[in-house]
Amino acid sequence: MSDIAARVQDYLDRTRHTFPPGCDRYFARIALEVALRAYHGGNFGIGAVAVVRSGRRADLFYGENAMAQPGAVIEHAETQAVLKVAAGDAPDHTITPPEPSPAAVTVYGTVEPCPMCACVLTNAGVQRSVSTCLDGELERDGDFLTSGGGANVLGDKYPTQPRVWRDIQRARGLRFELLAPDEPELWELSWKILAETRDEIDELLATRPGIGQRRAAGRD
Ligand SMILES: [Zn+2]
Repeated sequence: MSDIAARVQDYLDRTRHTFPPGCDRYFARIALEVALRAYHGGNFGIGAVAVVRSGRRADLFYGENAMAQPGAVIEHAETQAVLKVAAGDAPDHTITPPEPSPAAVTVYGTVEPCPMCACVLTNAGVQRSVSTCLDGELERDGDFLTSGGGANVLGDKYPTQPRVWRDIQRARGLRFELLAPDEPELWELSWKILAETRDEIDELLATRPGIGQRRAAGRD
């Protein structure tokens, strides 16, 4: 096992009963567990948990990144978690939080949602998105604003989203938040499990033939 995978596993083992069920850090820790699974599968180390709460019940749906798999197009962690809820799948896990809550869906991700996932969360009618880590800073590149990472929903990156999506998000009350910074190890490991193989997988995806080229190659 790589050093980072061993560190994440050790953290997960040590904190199994640390966070009260139902709190943000409890779900963010599970998202890290899912990210480790994605990492072991040779994908970006990104994990998400969609939490569907109603009263004293919370159903958890896990989504792991699978973009390195052949034919992957939308296999991002947050999108996968939301699609499971939308499809009416059985939850991966159910808990009974100590405090009752009105019906609402929150999606926890190890890193902030990319533009595609932000649109999926919007379309799905999710109320809240909580990310453990930011992904890059907003930078000016000539006439363009770019992000050093792949994501653009949190902080000063939020205004770079298309106006129509921001309007819909506002109308539906979708909020993008960063996890409170009171668990540095959870933050550090959520970032490092992605950073470890990110460049390598980016390279793989950048050189992968487009879907039209793949179909043509299949016919030959
Ligand atoms: Zn995404």
